[in-house]
Amino acid sequence: MGESIVRRSGAGTDGGSARDAVFRWECRCQEHPVLLATYNAAGRVNIKVRDRYWHVLGQVRTICPRCGAEHVLDLRGIGSPRSSREPADSR
Ligand SMILES: [Zn+2]
Repeated sequence: MGESIVRRSGAGTDGGSARDAVFRWECRCQEHPVLLATYNAAGRVNIKVRDRYWHVLGQVRTICPRCGAEHVLDLRGIGSPRSSREPADSR
């Protein structure tokens, strides 16, 4: 139950440990992808809205502020070895 203290995200550390890896959920509708949210390997999505962080578990959907496309991020299986579902957003 070690809910870790929320730290300021250390951006630019690509060589960090995989456990703490943060993935970008973004819409690639244009040259510079629009960041929709971030999520970690445990399947927790972190969404920053103004001065507040939302932590979402499971499935979340949002609308890209630029192109208006709806995106669905389903991380319900990411933390368990039984199903290896990954976000449909392919690179
Ligand atoms: Zn977009």
